[in-house]
Amino acid sequence: MARLTDEHLEIRRSVREFVAREIEPLADQLDNAEKEIPMPVIRKMAELGYFGLIFPVDHGGMGLDTMSMAIVTEELSRGWLSVGSVMTRMLITGSLIMASGTEEQKQRWLPRIASGELLTAAAFTEPDVGSDTAAMKLRAVKTPDGKGYELFGEKTWCTFANRAHVLTVLARTNPGAQPKHKGLSILLVEKEPGDEFHPPKLTGGAIPTIGYKGMKSYSLGFDGFACPRENLLGEQEGRGFYQLMATYEYARIQTAARAVGVAQAALEKAIRYARERVQFGKPIAEHQVIRHKIAHCATELEAARQLCYYAAQAKDEGKRCDLEAGYAKAFGAEMAERVTSECLQVFGGYGYSREYPVQRYWRDARVFRIFEGTSEIQYEVIAKRLLDDK
Ligand SMILES: Cc1cc2nc3c(=O)[nH]c(=O)nc-3n(C[C@H](O)[C@H](O)[C@H](O)COP(=O)(O)OP(=O)(O)OC[C@H]3O[C@@H](n4cnc5c(N)ncnc54)[C@H](O)[C@@H]3O)c2cc1C
Repeated sequence: MARLTDEHLEIRRSVREFVAREIEPLADQLDNAEKEIPMPVIRKMAELGYFGLIFPVDHGGMGLDTMSMAIVTEELSRGWLSVGSVMTRMLITGSLIMASGTEEQKQRWLPRIASGELLTAAAFTEPDVGSDTAAMKLRAVKTPDGKGYELFGEKTWCTFANRAHVLTVLARTNPGAQPKHKGLSILLVEKEPGDEFHPPKLTGGAIPTIGYKGMKSYSLGFDGFACPRENLLGEQEGRGFYQLMATYEYARIQTAARAVGVAQAALEKAIRYARERVQFGKPIAEHQVIRHKIAHCATELEAARQLCYYAAQAKDEGKRCDLEAGYAKAFGAEMAERVTSECLQVFGGYGYSREYPVQRYWRDARVFRIFEGTSEIQYEVIAKRLLDDK
C-alpha cells in the first residue's frame, strides 16, 4: 500500500472541501448544458496553487511531490473530469519547461503559469498523425532575420485552445532530419485568449464530443502564425521528441489519477442509490448480484488507485517509472470505463437519463483509453520494456 503522509491527507481534505463547495453544485447543470467551466472557478483553482503544484517554490510553485499532484487530480476529477483536466494543461507545459527549459525560460514562464496569469494548452496531435508522435508534420519555418519562426500546418484535439494564452506546439523545424523524430522542436506559442483565434494566420474550430464537456477541443490551422526564437524550449532545435517523452511519466500518472477520481464518484453514487432503491420488497443493495457488482467495482478501483500511487511514489523516489506509469494509466483507463458502466447499470433506466450524474461519469470515462497515449500504445510501451529491453 502507498504511504500517504498527514500532509497528503490534509491536501485531500482541503481539495474535497473545494470540490463540494465550488464544483459539485455546478457540474451536472453545466455539463448537461454543454457549458465550459466558468472562469471564476479557474481563477480560484489558480489561487489555490493547483496549476503550479509541482513547480519549485522559487519558480512560483508549491514545490509539492507527485503523490500530492495525484491526490489533487483525483479529488478534482471526482467532482468533474473537466476540472481535473484543466490543471493537466498547465502541468504538461510546466513540466516541459521544468525539465528542458533554460533558467531564463523557467523564470519567465513558470511563475506566470503557476499563478494562472498564463493559461496553456497542448498542441501535439495532428489530423493525420496521432499515436506516431515522431511523424508530426506542422512546420516551423525560420524567418529570414533569424529572430523567430512562422508556423504552417494543422493541429487537432487541442483542448482548452480558446482559453489559453500559450499553445505548447510540437513542430517540425528540420524537415530533412533522419530519423524523423530528430527534426521536431517544442515552441511556446503566445496568443490572445478567445473563441475567434487570429484569422487568417491562426484559425480554430471546436470539435463536438460525447463527453468532457467543460473544456472544448479544437482543430487549429496555422498559416504563418509567428513565434519568437526565445520561445523555443531549451533554445535548442531537434529536441522536441525527447523533451516530450521526458514528461510522459508525470502525464500518465496524472491521467491515471483522473480515471480513479471519476470512477470513485460513480461508485459513491451507485452505493447511495443501491441503498435507496427498493425492488422486490427490499433495497437493491440487498440483492446479491448488486452487492457483488459494487464489491467488484470497489476492488478494481482500489487496485487502480494503488497502481497510480505506486507510480507516483516511484517518481518521488527519483526512480525511472515509465513502466509503473504505463500500468497505472492503462489499467486505470480500462477500470474507469468498466466501473462507470457497471455503476450506471445499478441505476437501471435512471442511469440512462440526464437526471443523474452517473451518465456523465460514463461518457467522460470513455476518453481515458484514448488520450495521453491510447491503451494499445500503453501496452506496446509496457511490452517493449518487458520483452525487448536487455
Ligand atoms: C477529448 C480528447 C481530448 C484530447 N486533448 C488533446 C490535447 O489537448 N492535445 C493533444 O495534442 N491531443 C489531444 N487529444 C488527442 C489524443 O491524444 C489522440 O486522439 C491520441 O493520441 C490518439 O491519436 P489518434 O486519435 O490520431 O489515433 P491513431 O493514432 O490514429 O490511432 C487509431 C487507433 O489505432 C491504434 N494504433 C495506432 N498505432 C498503433 C500501433 N502501433 N499498434 C497498435 N495499435 C495502434 C490506436 O490505439 C487507436 O485505437 C485528445 C483526444 C480526445 C479524444
